[in-house]
Amino acid sequence: MTNKENPDAITLPKIKGVVEIPNCGLYAKGPRKLRKLFEWLSQYYDIEDCSKNESYPSPGTWYARIKPSLVHECVKCNWCGSYINPVGVGIHGHRCEICNKITMERFTHNGTIRFRFADDCDISDIEMRIFGYDDATESILLYPNIVSSERCFILTQQQAHKKFKRFSASWQEVERNGQKLIAIPRSNINSVEIIGQKRHYKAVRLFAGKEYDGWPLNDLPVTESYMIYEAWRWAPLRPSPKLHESIIHAAGMVSRVDFYYQDGRRAFDDIHLQRMRRFVHHFTTLDLNEWDRMISQNDLSGPSMIRAIARLCHPNAQVRNKPNISNLIDATAKIADGESLCMNEMMAAADALKNPRICREFIDIMGCGIKIQNI
Ligand SMILES: [Zn+2]
Repeated sequence: MTNKENPDAITLPKIKGVVEIPNCGLYAKGPRKLRKLFEWLSQYYDIEDCSKNESYPSPGTWYARIKPSLVHECVKCNWCGSYINPVGVGIHGHRCEICNKITMERFTHNGTIRFRFADDCDISDIEMRIFGYDDATESILLYPNIVSSERCFILTQQQAHKKFKRFSASWQEVERNGQKLIAIPRSNINSVEIIGQKRHYKAVRLFAGKEYDGWPLNDLPVTESYMIYEAWRWAPLRPSPKLHESIIHAAGMVSRVDFYYQDGRRAFDDIHLQRMRRFVHHFTTLDLNEWDRMISQNDLSGPSMIRAIARLCHPNAQVRNKPNISNLIDATAKIADGESLCMNEMMAAADALKNPRICREFIDIMGCGIKIQNI
């Protein structure tokens, strides 16, 4: 993804005979076009021949990745604004090597922590309020009261007290300013969630000497990678029972009916329609007017769109539609909420129920603890 509004943006120039399907790939219509594309790309990208990939060799495919020397991933201290060594920066009490201020406070006063004792196999946690941290003993200091919670997988006060008795060697009572506390060495627990953490640094990336937000935000002024296809080797694609899959995949979508919600909600957005139309226009022998008519008359749900595209591509098109646990979970959730199911949802859920493996997984997920053979 590239921030096109960035005045420093480096955008791919228009090259005749090279078609870009936005965010999905570059397609070269001939070897000379490909060479011209590579001439420009090689300024900023390392280009890999995917036919030589040992795990997934893919002839006629190339992968361009931004040169590592152009992008530097760094950590910036919020106190002094310096770019600092990222090693240990997220550890409680770590200090910036430039200004010596703390970069991370994990155990803040009055924060809460959810944890389990290190050797405990229980799936439920204890929740307690944090007093602070003792650097000398590397222990978390907690107020002695167990936080009462109605949430799933949190022990009640009574259960937590039992747990503290069982793991009595893992903690001790201490006192600070007259306040009785529980001190637990960090190595004696596994924390699941800590609320109230204060982070005094951020991940950033430097490109061409300028700073951009780091992961997960990505506003670099350049597309980070491209898939490149030697389209002249296979285009134009003619009608076939599998042609719809090529068109749908070119738009970055899945071509299996079961993958989508079955209730008719929209799955194909405008960008997907634009990508597919571009692919159909440049790389298939389908009639573009017929394509446009089909799109305008069809709803944009996954199942409906896949079937409509498949019908247009070939009279004997083979649409993939497997039993899928997601459809069973969606249907169950709707029923639990008192909503009714449409026919497609019922059929997809019924298909999933006929599959013993999916039934078993479904019961595991629901935590029923019932063995399928006992049903
Ligand atoms: Zn600093």
